[in-house]
Amino acid sequence: MVVTRCQVCDSSRLDPVIFIGYLPPVNTMPAIGTRPAEQPAYPAQVLHCRDCQLVQLGLIVDPAILFPPEYPYTSGTTKILRDNFADLSREVAALYPLGPSDLVVDIGSNDGTLLSNFSARGPVFGIEPTQAGELANHRDIPTLISFMNRQAARTAIAKKGKAKLVTATNVFAHIEDIHEIMECILELLTDDGIFVTESHYLLALIETLQYDTIYHEHLRHYSLTSLKYLLEMHGLEVIHARRIPTHGGSIRVYSARTGKYSVCKTVGEILNTEATELTPEKFHFFRSKVVQTKLDLYVLLRAIKARGQRIFGIGAPSRATTLINYVGLDDGILDCVLEIQGSYKIGKYIPGTLIPVQEESKLFQEQPDYALLLSWHIGDELMPKLSARGFKGKFIMPLPAPHVVG
Ligand SMILES: [Zn+2]
Repeated sequence: MVVTRCQVCDSSRLDPVIFIGYLPPVNTMPAIGTRPAEQPAYPAQVLHCRDCQLVQLGLIVDPAILFPPEYPYTSGTTKILRDNFADLSREVAALYPLGPSDLVVDIGSNDGTLLSNFSARGPVFGIEPTQAGELANHRDIPTLISFMNRQAARTAIAKKGKAKLVTATNVFAHIEDIHEIMECILELLTDDGIFVTESHYLLALIETLQYDTIYHEHLRHYSLTSLKYLLEMHGLEVIHARRIPTHGGSIRVYSARTGKYSVCKTVGEILNTEATELTPEKFHFFRSKVVQTKLDLYVLLRAIKARGQRIFGIGAPSRATTLINYVGLDDGILDCVLEIQGSYKIGKYIPGTLIPVQEESKLFQEQPDYALLLSWHIGDELMPKLSARGFKGKFIMPLPAPHVVG
C-alpha cells in the first residue's frame, strides 16, 4: 500500500527525504545453493510530514510477508538490550515507583526479557505475536501469544486487571494501525497509569547516517516532536523523555493522562534540540552525506579488492540487508557474512544477493584480511571480542564515516 496520507495525522503534505532503492523483505532468505528465483522488492522512500513532523516509509508492506510466524528475533540475546531493560526498571523505580500489586504489561514482549526485570516485584503480563512468547511462558512470564489488538487488551484485563505501567519497546514503529494500538493502551492503563515507549530515534538516524535502519518493518522513524503529537491525539501527555543507546540510538518516552504528573524539563530540552536539528535543510544535508558514505565505502573496498585481499561481513541483522543492497555489495566483494552459532540465518543467502551466511568460526579458521562490521552500531563491543578470540585481520566500519580499524 502506497502512503499518500500521513499515518498519524492524515495530512497529504508529505515531502520526500531519501530514496534507498527497491529492497527485498529482510527476513526472506533463500537457502544456499538454490538458483536465484523471482523475488519481490519494495521501494524504500522516506517521507516527512509537514504537519505532525512524522518521518515515515512511503510504502506499507503486508505484515504477513514481513513477519512470518517463525520470525526468529529474540531480544534476550543482545547484551545492550538486556542492560537497557534493567536500566528501564531502575529508572521506573526511581521516578514512578510501583507498588507490589501494580501490574506491568509489555506489548511485543518477545521472550520476556523486559518483564523479567519487573516480575520479582509484582505481577507482569506479556503480549507477543511470535513463538518467542512460548520461551517467556517457560520462564514463568505469563504471555498471551497474539498480536496487540482489542481482544488481546481485554484478555489481559480479564486475567490481570488494569496496568499501572504499559511498555512498548521497539515495536511502536512496526505496527500498522497505530491509532488502534493507542486506544488499546488507553484501555489497559489505570487512571494514573504510565505508558513508556522506546523507539529508534530519528535524530540518531540523522546524526550518524543510519540509513541502514530504513527497511519495511520500520514504518515510522520517531522524534519526540512526532511522538508527542501522536500521544496528545489520544489524551496522553509526555512527562519525561531520554535518549538511550539501543539500536544505535533510541528514545525512551514516558506519558500519562494529561495533568496526572508533572512534566520533567527533559521534555522541553529535547523538543528544542529537535526544532533546530530536524529541519528540511538538515534532511537535505543528511541525504547528500548518505550518498557520500556509499561512495567512500566503495573507494575503500576498491583498494582492498585491487590488492586481491579477502573481506568477510560480520553479522546479518535486518539492517545489513539494507546496507548491502543500497551500497550494491555482492559475493565478489564479500566472500560471506558470518553469524554466531545457532543463528537461523546460517545456510542462507543475504536477501537480494548470493552472499552466503555462514558460521562465525570461519573467521578464525580462514583469517580474511578484513572484517566488515555490518552491526557497526555495536562495533565497539564487537571488535575487542573478535580480536580476543583470535581474529588477526583488520576491521571496516561502514558508517557513519567508512574507515579501517586495526
Ligand atoms: Zn502527519
